[in-house]
Amino acid sequence: MALIVQKYGGTSVADAERIKNVARRIARTRDEGHQVVVVVSAMGDTTDKLIELAYQISERPDNRELDVLLSTGEVVSSTLLAMALKAMGYPAISLTGAQAGIRTDAAFSRARILKVEAKRVIKELEKGNIVIVAGFQGITEEMDITTLGRGGSDTTAVALAASLGAEVCQIYTDVEGVYSADPRLVPQAQRLAEIGYEEMLELASYGAQVLHPRAVELGELFHIPILVASSFTEKPGTLIHGGVAMEVRNKVRGIAHNRNVAKITVVGVPDRPGIAAAIFVPLAEAGISVDTIVQNASIQGITDLTFTVSKGDLARAMEVVEPIAKSIGARECVSDAKLGAVSIVGTGMQNTPGYAARMFGALSEKNINIQLITTSEIRITCIINEAEVEEAVRALHQAFQTEADTASG
Ligand code: ASP
Ligand code: MG
Repeated sequence: MALIVQKYGGTSVADAERIKNVARRIARTRDEGHQVVVVVSAMGDTTDKLIELAYQISERPDNRELDVLLSTGEVVSSTLLAMALKAMGYPAISLTGAQAGIRTDAAFSRARILKVEAKRVIKELEKGNIVIVAGFQGITEEMDITTLGRGGSDTTAVALAASLGAEVCQIYTDVEGVYSADPRLVPQAQRLAEIGYEEMLELASYGAQVLHPRAVELGELFHIPILVASSFTEKPGTLIHGGVAMEVRNKVRGIAHNRNVAKITVVGVPDRPGIAAAIFVPLAEAGISVDTIVQNASIQGITDLTFTVSKGDLARAMEVVEPIAKSIGARECVSDAKLGAVSIVGTGMQNTPGYAARMFGALSEKNINIQLITTSEIRITCIINEAEVEEAVRALHQAFQTEADTASG
């Protein structure tokens, strides 16, 4: 008997029939003799609908109220799933994030989990219950309800798996696992049978939508194997873990893309201490997350500073940066809202020269202009025009595809 945490995404519980289907899958795991803790997302596009509703009421909905509102989506799906299991004769109980002991900081809409006090969950497991926990939410010291950021149910699941010492965290979704590229863009993309945490973290952070990056981070930190698989099929999925065989690692494993990139350049910045801080401290204080930052080597004491934000943050970021640019004597602030990013990821590039050259070559063959380049030890990212993202992903998959380890079935 093992303790297994399963998470079902919004599409998997989008209507009554699908909730019953998920209940049957949970029952099967239970019949195999396991203890099961389940984390659910809100049904279908419930969260989007709730956000829309809030903005119909107010241009700036109150943060605290908004989080309570959004948390109800997951409460609905968790209760229905518990009812479905009970109707099938299985003992089950639903718990809100607060009841499950998910303690967070007070950053509404992007709260971080500080700890999990899983007493109640453990008690219910000991009673023989299947425990259904509402994902994406927690509670502060002050007993205010928080949410963890879009897609946060994955993080709830891995955090619970870590605190309960579960054998595995199974994330069930509407795709069959992690692919070498988005199969909607690249029909030849292949499902990866397994992938290491670091590679998965890069892929998730740079656009692969299959898993919340913070969930991968937690998995790595607490050594929880994470299985990503479809709730609609019996296919084996992708296992994210730390024990990936060496020779499999020595490759480009995947291509990630992100169409949601905007760029701001502060032109003609005086090159002296304190300038970067003057720009980025206020951005951070405004809660704007900055991704790529590039500063040129200066010529005659003048340089350019470029950084990227998500498109939704561009207007606010310009509001923050323009007055600062003026006050520090920069020439101007320019922005481009129509960018995207393509990344190649693989531990193999760590010690092998030539990956960057091949990547740039593949893009130049398609006449795709690279605007910015950033790298980590296991990733190379090119910022390009949004309109060219699809073609770029295909070209890169073509250039590197022989390296993906494939899996059948
Ligand atoms: N329901 C939330 C969202 O749509 C959380 C989740 O699905 O994980 O972002
Ligand atoms: Mg969702």
